[in-house]
Amino acid sequence: MSSKPNIEFIDLAAQQARIKPKLDAAIARVLAHGAYIMGPEVAELEQQLAAFCGAKYALSCSNGTDALALVLMAKKLKPKEAVFVPSFTFAATAEVVAWLGATPVFVDSLEESFNMDPASLEQAITQAERLGLKPAGVIPVDLFGLPAAYSAIEPIARKHGLWMLCDAAQGFGGMYHGRKIGTIGDATATSFFPAKPLGCYGDGGAVFTDNAEMYETMASLRVHGKGADKYDNVRIGMNGRLDTLQAAILLEKLAIFSDEIRTRNALAARYSEGLADVIATPAVPAGLTSVWAQYTLTLPEGAPRDAIQQRLKAEYGVPTMVYYPKPLHQQTAYKAYPTATGAALPVCESLSARVFSLPMHPYMPDDTAEYIIRSLRSVLGAVQEKAA
Ligand SMILES: *Cc1c(COP(=O)(O)O)cnc(C)c1O
Repeated sequence: MSSKPNIEFIDLAAQQARIKPKLDAAIARVLAHGAYIMGPEVAELEQQLAAFCGAKYALSCSNGTDALALVLMAKKLKPKEAVFVPSFTFAATAEVVAWLGATPVFVDSLEESFNMDPASLEQAITQAERLGLKPAGVIPVDLFGLPAAYSAIEPIARKHGLWMLCDAAQGFGGMYHGRKIGTIGDATATSFFPAKPLGCYGDGGAVFTDNAEMYETMASLRVHGKGADKYDNVRIGMNGRLDTLQAAILLEKLAIFSDEIRTRNALAARYSEGLADVIATPAVPAGLTSVWAQYTLTLPEGAPRDAIQQRLKAEYGVPTMVYYPKPLHQQTAYKAYPTATGAALPVCESLSARVFSLPMHPYMPDDTAEYIIRSLRSVLGAVQEKAA
């Protein structure tokens, strides 16, 4: 048997090697000036992030979860209020709603895009009202890097007087019909967790808005609800700052981000071209740009996903991951919260049993991509033969 290649699911080392001298210099500058908290790199990063996406204001913060929370705190979210979130997402999207004592109401997903289903959102609003909750807001998620169905969700939000917070922890850098992610809705939150498309070397996040008042409120909330100075507290806030070191690192990573988005899209196109005839590949609707936080395939109902993943790893050395094996409305911490249907969410329950993601990062050599395609094609062929 030939030796298996060493394939990384996400290759952060290759990116680091590309910009190592710049990172070293950026870190050295921070060590030299010593302004570890709110140093000049923080303001510089905020300016560049806003310019990158075209939002009026960018506010950096401690992580993507706090980014979401800052918006909900600025919106003064209260108990008895309902916030509509997809069930097929990372827990943080719903967690922040529950933090403030409000009720996350879980919405089903679209099979083709994995994103929030606007028809299920309508149903969830009716369901919340029936339960005596006040519909307050909606948090669409750009799952796996693909922008949510904003042009269908926005009119529903408007009709019911809901604010819209875009959870772009996976989608920052994407485009929606000529609009950059970061400029849609009342606010957008993103995460700089190392594995996200734009990641730092620790925890980090940012919030975007065009609303000056909201920006000022969130800037205060980020530093314990400060007023005129930090020992004048005008509201209950948090310690939500981004470290200067992380800002310095992000500035170097932001400089190559557009290039990386192009490379991610080239890899996704190559995967889809090589696999579309044997498995359901992720669709990107016309007018949208994904940043491919994940490249996610969908198996047919009943296909042996575990066996396929195991064979890919054991026989070919190809790592795969399942995002997400259990939708939130079925999780221990969240199963008491309402769903759009008052019961099951059939699409996301089915998706969570059928999806898996291939290695995705901007530094994969072409021959590795071809090898992954060939490996998956043979595993799928062997599995089918066995079933026949
Ligand atoms: C990663 C992620 C978050 C949370 O970001 P952190 O920086 O880890 O707190 C929120 N929502 C989604 C969809 C995510 O993928």
